[in-house]
Formats: sequence, C-alpha cells, structure tokens
Amino acid sequence: AKRNGGGSHRFFSPEMEDRAHARRALEVDLREALETDGFELHFQPLIELATGEITTCEALLRWHHPERGPIPPSEFIPIAEDTGLIAALGDWVLHRACQEASTWPSNVRVAVNMSPVQFRDRALGRRIFSALTEASLPPHRLELEITERVLLEETETTLHALEQLVMTGANISLDDFGTGFSSLNYLRKFPFQKIKIDRSFVRDIGHDREAQLIVHAIASLGADLEMIVVAEGVETAEQLAQAKAQGCHEAQGYLIGEPMPADAIHDRLTRSASR
Ligand code: C2E
Ligand code: CA
Ligand code: CA
Ligand code: CA
Repeated sequence: AKRNGGGSHRFFSPEMEDRAHARRALEVDLREALETDGFELHFQPLIELATGEITTCEALLRWHHPERGPIPPSEFIPIAEDTGLIAALGDWVLHRACQEASTWPSNVRVAVNMSPVQFRDRALGRRIFSALTEASLPPHRLELEITERVLLEETETTLHALEQLVMTGANISLDDFGTGFSSLNYLRKFPFQKIKIDRSFVRDIGHDREAQLIVHAIASLGADLEMIVVAEGVETAEQLAQAKAQGCHEAQGYLIGEPMPADAIHDRLTRSASR
C-alpha cells in the first residue's frame, strides 16, 4: 500500500476511518432506537433434562435497524458499553423482561444478561429492585447472568453492586463457563445458583471423549456446590443425550427452542402449562 508522503504518519488507515465512522453512525442510531422503542426482546427456553419442562427463559436483545436490518447484539452491545448507553439499555431490558415474566406461569423464571459496565453503577441494586417492583415479580423469578468479565473488575464499586444484587433476592448465574481463565476461582468466591457451560464445550460432546469428560467434571462439581449446571448451545439429539448422560441438569439451544418473540414464548409456556 502507498504511504502518505511528507514524512507525516497516518494513524488511521482508510479502513479504520470507515470503521470508526460506522461506529459513530451506529451510536447515533442506538440513541434514537432507545428513544423510539426500537428494540425488542426475544426469549429462549431452558429445560430441565429430567422432566423436559421449561424452567427459565433467557431474554436476548434484538435490534432491527431501519436501514440495515437486524444487527446482532455482538455488534451493538460493545458500542452501547463504550458509550455508556448500556445503562439505559440495560434498564430497559430489565423492566421489559420482568414485565413479560409476570405474565408467565409462576414456576418459570426469566434470565437477563448483565454487562460488566452495569456493575460500575452503585445504584444497580435499586434499578433491579425497581424493575421487580414495577412488574410485581417475586425476586426469585429473576436470574441475572454475569460472565467472568464482571468479576475481573474487582473494584469496590463492582463488589458493592454485586452485594446489592444478592440482596434483591434475585438469582445469579455464571454465563459462558469455561471460556475465561479463572472460572473455578470464581465459583468459590461467589454464590451462583447456576452455571452455564459454554457452547464451545457442548459443541463437541456428541463425539469427543475429552469434551464429555470436561462436561462431566463441571456437572459433578456444580452438583457438589449445589448449583444447577446448564449445557448451552445444544443443537443435536446426540448433544442433548450426552448433556444428560454427563450429569447436566438443564439444557438450552436451538434443538430445544430458538430465541422467539414474547407472544410465541408466551404461547409455548401456556400450552405446556395446560397440557
Ligand atoms: P449469551 O448470553 O451466551 O447468549 C446465548 C447466545 O447463543 C444467543 O446469541 C443465542 O441466540 C445463541 N444460541 C442459543 N442457542 C444456540 C445454539 O444452539 N447454537 C448456536 N450457535 N447459538 C445459540 P445472541 O442472541 O446473538 O446473543 C449474543 C450475546 O449477546 C449473548 O450471549 C450475550 O452475551 C449478549 N446479549 C444478548 N442480549 C443481551 C442483553 O440484553 N444485555 C447484555 N448485556 N448482553 C446481551
Ligand atoms: Ca446469557
Ligand atoms: Ca452463554
Ligand atoms: Ca456467549
């Protein structure tokens, strides 16, 4: 590639400028979407392997961009985190998820993903409490999914927010288990009710002996610690059978149900409740 003349350095390649520009444009659109109710929550079921019953539905954010069409959370959540918009967006998700769950059979919980950035907010406990109260949802029906990224920031504010969160009476799940580098250490440090084994392990359990052994070890450790162990990303009947054989308690994945709009999950829940 031809470099700039005159001895001056170009810090940004045209490609990087494009990317920075696209990011700024998305940021503007994100703000707009927040003001105009442009987001939607979809819900994906988790089943108890012993009974096949739905225990929990995980709320997953969907954004249908007016010009670009659907944009995946992996693309817009980092931008919302960098720009601070995640506070308002996270609040919207909490309120919406609790509201929806209040219309479900009372044995079904709702799981909400929490960004590490939300834990820099000392008022997090109050925000959660307000979402629960507004929806009249008992705290035990809410599960907050956090990843190691939250616990890496072991600052006073983060720990305070975590304490507040525990005090609301909501349950806490450790998401994407096994992808970080000190997952085991965090199990000891924090009262999780659930651990979710990352899809990368579950993917291979149908055929790979090592993957089976790892899932088995996590499931028995979880059982000893009195935590519910979930296999994430179950797509095939073999994976489902192995998740069960290796001692997982719950499973989630396309085989069981894809993330679906609120009315579709509502139908599925009320159908199975009246069976
Ligand atoms: P996650 O929390 O690990 O959520 C599970 C992701 O795996 C979802 O992707 C879901 O659609 C996908 N998935 C479920 N079953 C299967 C399967 O069988 N096979 C495969 N290949 N994928 C499966 P999604 O909806 O694109 O979300 C991606 C990530 O974005 C989530 O990962 C979560 O970290 C984040 N996210 C989504 N909604 C929110 C939110 O409301 N707040 C925050 N902070 N993060 C969110
Ligand atoms: Ca999750
Ligand atoms: Ca996950
Ligand atoms: Ca993930």
